Amino acid sequence: MTAAARGAGARVPVLIVHGGAGADPGDERAGVREGLGTALARGWQVLARGGPALDAVEAAVRALEDDPRFNAGRGAVLTTAGTVELDASIMEGDRLRCGAVAAVSRVANPVTLARRVLEEGRHVLLVAEGAHAFAREIGLPECDPATLVTARQRERLARRGADAPAGTVGAVALDRHGTIAAATSTGGTLGKRPGRVGDAAVIGAGTYADSTLGGVSCTGEGEAIIRVVLARRALDYLREAGDPTYAARVAVDLLVEEGGGQGGLVLLDWRGRVGWAHSTPFMAVGWMAPALGEPRVTC
Ligand code: ASP
Repeated sequence: MTAAARGAGARVPVLIVHGGAGADPGDERAGVREGLGTALARGWQVLARGGPALDAVEAAVRALEDDPRFNAGRGAVLTTAGTVELDASIMEGDRLRCGAVAAVSRVANPVTLARRVLEEGRHVLLVAEGAHAFAREIGLPECDPATLVTARQRERLARRGADAPAGTVGAVALDRHGTIAAATSTGGTLGKRPGRVGDAAVIGAGTYADSTLGGVSCTGEGEAIIRVVLARRALDYLREAGDPTYAARVAVDLLVEEGGGQGGLVLLDWRGRVGWAHSTPFMAVGWMAPALGEPRVTC
């Protein structure tokens, strides 16, 4: 149902972004803050001028994909073969339109390719060579896969990641028309098998948006997140309890207890209230609403 059909009047926009759940990044906190600040600014530019939530989450996630400090786009973690394979998804909550791509290695901004899958509307998820062929067909520039691989991630693969750089990225937005959109993008898990697909490409698991309820973007152990269909379940808890922080907490407990994994999520409800929770030592979260005056980042 569109926001207009629901009779939603002009709404106050809100944007929440995350930079992954994991270990404390120590000295790199400042860089994580800076990256989230840039992503909030990009997404907020769209919402502040009355633009759509879908454009806002795409813009915010693109900024994080372009930042090599995060595990998305360039700078993502490597497979056992030393390659980058990216997963991303995006969803618009009025009509449950969604798009996703997985195991993509020749596209610098997989969230934009996922957006184009959504716009075309024929399929929901395209993977690997099929996703690359679609990118070529629509004229999205392909990149040399080597440009996505950073020296830092090569060293991390060799050492099996003793340090803790920033993680998966995601964003959820509510626009002036009452539409909610969510997006998630990742390189997955360090040293994954080539061909492994995680939750960030799975609608309902890593990403979900329903403008009558809210939107969610998840991070953490993708296999566990898929097992409990975390993003959609978080919205079910929101419907039952009505409180975004509580819903986020109960969903993360479910991830740990039933899914057997660790992680976190950000949630934005249809009223524009934000919530997040994580079971990991650290999760970088930032959000912006007009009443705040300036973006908030927690890390
Ligand atoms: N959820 C991502 C995956 O499993 C990884 C992460 O969020 O750290 O692909």
